[in-house]
Amino acid sequence: MRLQIAAANWKMNATLEEAKSLLSKLAEFDSSTLPNHHKVIVSVPFPYLMLAKEYLGKKHGFMVAAQNCYNQPKGAFTGEVSALMLSSINVDAVLIGHSERREYFSESNEMLAQKVNIALENELTPVFCCGEPLSIREANTQNEYVAKQLKESLYHLSPEQLMQVVIAYEPIWAIGTGRTASDEQAQEMHAFIRAELAKQYGQELANEISILYGGSVKGSNSIGLFSQPDVDGGLVGGASLNADEFIQIIQSLS
Ligand code: PEP
Repeated sequence: MRLQIAAANWKMNATLEEAKSLLSKLAEFDSSTLPNHHKVIVSVPFPYLMLAKEYLGKKHGFMVAAQNCYNQPKGAFTGEVSALMLSSINVDAVLIGHSERREYFSESNEMLAQKVNIALENELTPVFCCGEPLSIREANTQNEYVAKQLKESLYHLSPEQLMQVVIAYEPIWAIGTGRTASDEQAQEMHAFIRAELAKQYGQELANEISILYGGSVKGSNSIGLFSQPDVDGGLVGGASLNADEFIQIIQSLS
């Protein structure tokens, strides 16, 4: 049974005090009854990673993630953070290719392929983000656009490596805009992604990959989205900054 995942992305938000308050509320949530195929990933800014591990590291079903890592192993890259550094502090996962990284930091599909590799080499679960801008959706070429992102950043992986990857489909027009993809739009793209993976790696493997939806997921729409057959949970930005709402989203995993 493939994993159903609620992933928080705090982005560049929260002071230390706010981070402590959010983490302690998540720590208080009784996760002992989460089934084994339900997981929670909490992606926090770099300065709070060790704190997040302290609060959530031993919590059933919880994983802590970074929001980025560099594509080189070490060296003279002032200001960057390596995958090895993340794994050395027991971080579990890392977001790769969030649309904000692609847009504001010019991260190409090729660079993201390197980041996926280095994350896997360091035993971090890559949460690989893909998704189209509004202009592509309006031209109805979103399938080709997402297929290219998958091909150029993931298809060099062996089947064993791909099995370690979580995919997050995040239509850019739905991120932080309050405009969510409809349940049907999400399902349609997730089924397309799974079919593409099946063409490349076979249906059996494609059936095992978790594909999360991201883009204005809230407590009020998560049940509808997560109940779609190919939607395996969500990557949640804004709503994950409210512990009660994020817990509601966790509880709507199907
Ligand atoms: C995100 O940060 O990946 C995201 C989907 O943000 P939001 O939920 O705020 O749209």
